[in-house]
Amino acid sequence: MASRRSGPAGGLGTVIGVVLLIGLAILIIKWALITAAILAVPFGIWWLLDHEKRTRPVREAQQAAAAAAARRTEVESRAVVDAAGGCGWCGSRIAHRDARTGALMPPREFHRDEVEQAIAITA
Ligand SMILES: [Zn+2]
Repeated sequence: MASRRSGPAGGLGTVIGVVLLIGLAILIIKWALITAAILAVPFGIWWLLDHEKRTRPVREAQQAAAAAAARRTEVESRAVVDAAGGCGWCGSRIAHRDARTGALMPPREFHRDEVEQAIAITA
C-alpha cells in the first residue's frame, strides 16, 4: 500500500485530489453566493414591507404631534402684546390685569382658556 502511493503516480493522485477538493470548494462557494443572491430579493422586499408597516404608526404619531405643536404655536402667537401695546387676542388697548391681585398679565395668560379652546376646536 505505502509502496504504491510513493513515487510519481502517488504524487499525481495527490495533485488530482487537491484540484478536485479546490473545485468542490469553489462549487460550494458559488452555490452559496447564488443562493444568497436569489434569496436576497424576496427577503429584501419582505424586510422593506415589514419595516414600513412597523414604522408607519410611529411616523404618523410624530407628524400628528408636529402638526399639533405647530397649531399651538400659531394660535398662541396671536395672544401677544401687539405693536401698539394692546392685546393681540381681543384687541383691548388697555393692558389686562389679574382680577384678584391687580397685577399686569400677559395676553397669553389672561386668555389662557380661550387659547386652549381655540386649539381644541381646530385640532
Ligand atoms: Zn385680551
